[in-house]
Amino acid sequence: MKAPICEVCLKNDGLLCPADEKKLQEGIISELDVKVARLLYRLLGDVDIEFKKAVEAGDLIVLIVGRGDVPTVIGKGGKNIKALVKELGKRVRVIEGFDTWGPGELKKLAADLFYPASIFGINVVYRPGGEKAYKVLVPFRERKKLPEKPELLENVLSQILGREVKIAFV
Ligand SMILES: [Zn+2]
Repeated sequence: MKAPICEVCLKNDGLLCPADEKKLQEGIISELDVKVARLLYRLLGDVDIEFKKAVEAGDLIVLIVGRGDVPTVIGKGGKNIKALVKELGKRVRVIEGFDTWGPGELKKLAADLFYPASIFGINVVYRPGGEKAYKVLVPFRERKKLPEKPELLENVLSQILGREVKIAFV
């Protein structure tokens, strides 16, 4: 299992090794990443999947996993999800992620996360100073099909991409 922490840290529940502790201190990984990585390892063992990161917004935790890894992480009949929900005390969703994020990757991610609502497209917005932000365009008629409140979805997407993501109904 590929995870944001090393194998030794995955296998124990104690202190992190110095390298992973440094990543935590520097904000490269979060406490939640550590917790979820260890839980997944306990549930799945050393299977060939990648857990990239977890983000939390409201009562929802979204797990970002490697390409094709969603079914394994969810488990037969959702048994792993049920175990995660029990351990984490929040709703859990598992979404396929990428190593680098551009508008194309964001479009795929938003399509998964917003299902059954459909997406019209992605706009790149340049902030003063040149910083990039994104707008996910959702057809106005799809608004009621969103599985979560728009603010919660914006929060999740912004955390995953590490930059501002807003939803615009068009
Ligand atoms: Zn470690």
